[in-house]
Amino acid sequence: MSKIKKKFWVLACAFVFVSMFYANSIPAKAASYQNAKITASTLNVRSTPSTKSAILWKLSKGQIVKITQTSKGWAKIDDPKKKDGWVSADYLQPMPVQVKTPAATTKSYYVNASGLYLRKEANTKAQAITLLPNQTKVVELSRNGSWSKITYKPYTGWVSNKYLTDKAPAASKPSVPVPQTKPKTIVGKTIVLDAGHGGTDPGSAGYSPALKKAVLEKDLTLMMVQKTAALLKDAGANVILTRSSDTYPSLQARVDLAEKYHADAFVSVHYNAGSSTASGLETYYYTQAKDQKLADCIQREMVKATSMRDRGVKKESLHVVRENSQPAVLLELGFISNQKELDTIISNEYQITMSNAICNGLKNYFY
Ligand SMILES: [Zn+2]
Repeated sequence: MSKIKKKFWVLACAFVFVSMFYANSIPAKAASYQNAKITASTLNVRSTPSTKSAILWKLSKGQIVKITQTSKGWAKIDDPKKKDGWVSADYLQPMPVQVKTPAATTKSYYVNASGLYLRKEANTKAQAITLLPNQTKVVELSRNGSWSKITYKPYTGWVSNKYLTDKAPAASKPSVPVPQTKPKTIVGKTIVLDAGHGGTDPGSAGYSPALKKAVLEKDLTLMMVQKTAALLKDAGANVILTRSSDTYPSLQARVDLAEKYHADAFVSVHYNAGSSTASGLETYYYTQAKDQKLADCIQREMVKATSMRDRGVKKESLHVVRENSQPAVLLELGFISNQKELDTIISNEYQITMSNAICNGLKNYFY
């Protein structure tokens, strides 16, 4: 760097530093304004920035003035009741700049559909983050055509705004007297979720042309219990997973966990395999008195939430259900062996819809 250049940079930096200091003390431009306190016992307000100009009026110590402009040691002040004039900036003590926060532009809406996907981006192909139930109150942050960016609990994402309404849902009139007994609720209930298979046991397998890879039952079951666990925890339940990674606990170890924690419900998640045309949802139980109500509640919600075939609730001798002294069921959430159904069940939308359905089924069971 040449000497001249160096000198230039030193000067430039000094200028920037002084400008910053000056900007902190008194605004240099008329575009913004700052308030200042008068430090002199009296201060003349003059018609121009000069001691030779006419005195318009006087200010006294402690008064606060609004500065609209500065020039060479002078500050132009604006007083709503008196004529604007100039005072010596030497007798002004700047006050903190008041930052005006813009008025909130957010607006609340309600979901006006049986379920509305909250997506990562503003298009129907974007990944779904969660499913918003009907009448959910959401806050709109911004709007882009038919899509709105909204927040709901911990989530932020996009929804199609044709399913939003600004009309609050009418409070439903209680048709029955409010019961005086303790409310039946999922809050505090202990639920053991069992992701079928795992580790060395992949369960059934299929091939997804869309993903261009093999799909293993053990991976789908784990994803499903994790999504369901999050929803159940949100609802206030204690959730215990028989596995939370790609491991294989024995069937009896899964049952033992339910026994140990005196689970209020044990739900084992599986996917089916059969012929390439077999399809639908089914739920297994073993002991009618202990398990069937749980099976009915979950199966009903799963069928309601999807357009999939209802294969019904069936009695079957399956270890994790049969050996369990806690209410226990085993769900079959669609056929991996059916190409069309496989495309559905591997989707994030399906997993969100189904985990919500399982959660709702459990809520109904405890109610
Ligand atoms: Zn299985």
